Amino acid sequence: MNDGISDSIEFTEDGPEGASIWLSSHAIAAMIEAATKAGRCETGGILIGRYGAEGWSADVVEATPKPKGSGSGWFWFRRSKTGLASLLESRWQAGLYYVGEWHSHPGGVPVPSRDDVRAMRRIAGDQSYHCPSPVLMILAGRPRTGWSVSSTLFRRGHEVRLEAGRK
Ligand SMILES: [Zn+2]
Repeated sequence: MNDGISDSIEFTEDGPEGASIWLSSHAIAAMIEAATKAGRCETGGILIGRYGAEGWSADVVEATPKPKGSGSGWFWFRRSKTGLASLLESRWQAGLYYVGEWHSHPGGVPVPSRDDVRAMRRIAGDQSYHCPSPVLMILAGRPRTGWSVSSTLFRRGHEVRLEAGRK
């Protein structure tokens, strides 16, 4: 998918266990806005949403901008935890949870780097996130050429790449 992503996206995986992740148009717009503002530097934040009742499914309703104290360069992004606990606390009251991470690859491809994979495994094993199977979404591209989003689920230490379709 490319130029002018404005509709929501449904990501699915058809393996024996299956998985589906719905990404709201609101969250996509927030990611594009943050990435546009960040220019040639990477940026990112966390994904907030709710889990479905059957199989592995999640609805991502919100993609936050980078917390204060985050660091970034052309090829790296390190999200700080500043304000995260209180933000998640307020979302819990609305039945929303931490689902995973997102960041941009300006002018790059939406493929997780080795460092990205390492960071996601660390989060999966970090009790404070209460998220043993976190999702990583990568927004790649630039304002002029358009954007694409990938979705990877880290399920029990395995990377599961989901396919994007519109819904
Ligand atoms: Zn990355």
